Amino acid sequence: SIKLSNRIQNVKPSPTLAVAARAAELKAQGRNIVGLGTGEPDFDTPAHIKQAAIDAINRGETKYTAVGGTPALKDAIINKFERDNGLKYGRRQILVSNGGKQSFYNLCQALLNPGDEVIIPAPYWVSYPDMVILAEGVPVILNTTIKQNLKVSPAQLEKAITPRTRLLVLNSPSNPSGIAYNTEELRALAEVLLRNPHVLVATDDMYEHIIWISEGFKNILNVCPDLYDRTIVLNGVSKAYAMTGWRIGYCAGPEDLIASMDTVQSQSTSNPCSISQAAAIAALRGDQSCMEPMVKAFKERHDFLVNALNDIPGVSCLQSDGTFYAFPNVEGLIKKVKGISSDLELAEYLINEHDLALVPGSAFGAEGHMRLSYATSMKVLEEAARRLRAAAES
Ligand code: PLP
Repeated sequence: SIKLSNRIQNVKPSPTLAVAARAAELKAQGRNIVGLGTGEPDFDTPAHIKQAAIDAINRGETKYTAVGGTPALKDAIINKFERDNGLKYGRRQILVSNGGKQSFYNLCQALLNPGDEVIIPAPYWVSYPDMVILAEGVPVILNTTIKQNLKVSPAQLEKAITPRTRLLVLNSPSNPSGIAYNTEELRALAEVLLRNPHVLVATDDMYEHIIWISEGFKNILNVCPDLYDRTIVLNGVSKAYAMTGWRIGYCAGPEDLIASMDTVQSQSTSNPCSISQAAAIAALRGDQSCMEPMVKAFKERHDFLVNALNDIPGVSCLQSDGTFYAFPNVEGLIKKVKGISSDLELAEYLINEHDLALVPGSAFGAEGHMRLSYATSMKVLEEAARRLRAAAES
C-alpha cells in the first residue's frame, strides 16, 4: 500500500457527508430511510438567480476569471457588506472562493504555521478542526454546556489563549446548535480579544439571513469596530439563497491576508466557476425578499421539531435562534436503549433499527447530542419525530 503523508493521516472525512452517503446507499437498497443529515436547503435556487447564470452562458462568460472573483462580483459583495452589515471594504479586501468551505481552507493555509493554535468553541462546524490540522495547526476546542446555551464564555476564551494562539473561530448562528451570540456576549468576547492583540478572529456568518431573533443578525465586528484590522468575515450564498451546488463563498479581511489567501487559491483551484459568479451577483444584488418564504418555512419547522423533541423522553433541546438545525441533548435516550453508551452508537442504532439517519454530536465535538437538519418537509419531520419517539419507547 502507498505511504501517505502524516498530514492526511490526521484528518477524517466530513462526517456529515458520510451520514448523507450512508442514508443514500441504504435508500438505494430499498430501505425507507428518513434522513435529517444534510445541511442544505430543500428549496430550489430562486428563478432570477438561475436566469442570470443562463444569461452568463449565452454572453460567453465561460472562461477563466480573475482568481479571487470578477470585479463585478467583488463590487456586489462590497455593496452587500455595506447594505446588510454596515461594513466597508475595498476590492483588495475581498476574496471569492469555491464555497465557504474553501474560504476557511485558504485562511488556514495562508495564516498558520505548524503548531499554531486555533480556538474553536464546540459544538463546531465539522470542517474547522480538520482544516486547521491540514494546515498543521492545532485546534484548541472549548467545550460548552446546555447551561451556557452552548456558547463559549469570555473566561473560557481568556484561559485558552496562549502566545501560540493565532485565531478564534466564531460561527453565529451556529451549525450545529442554531444558537446565536447576542450583542452583550459578543462584546464580552471582543474585550478579551482587545487584551490579546496577537489573536485574529474569523466570524463565519454563513447563516446570517436564516435567523428569527428580534435583535436580528450581528457579528463581532459590528459590536467592536476596533477589531477591523484582525477580523476575517466569512460568508457565502450557499445557505441564504439555496445555492449549495453552485459553490460560491466569499470573505473580507485585511488586504495582505486576503492577497495570500488569493495566492493559495491561485495554486490550487484558480477562480470559482464563472457562471456561478454571475449567479451570485444576481443573488446579492437582486430582490432580497426571495429569502423570506424559506426563512419562514425553516422557523415553522423549527417550532414543530423542537417541541416534538422536547416531548420525547430522554431528549432535551434548546430553541434555535436561526439556521435549519436542532441539536438536542440525548444523554437520557442513550441510557434508555440497551447496549448503547454513546451518541455514535445511538446514531448507528437509529439508522439500523429505525431507519432514521441523524448525525451524532461527537462529529461536532459535543458528545451526547444529535444534529437534526430541518431543511426538509414537515411530513418528513413528523415521521422522524415518530421514529425517534419509537426508539425512546422501545
Ligand atoms: N460554514 C458553515 C458554518 C457551514 O455550515 C457551511 C456548510 O455547511 C459552510 C461554512 C460552507 O458552505 P459552502 O462551502 O457550501 O458554501
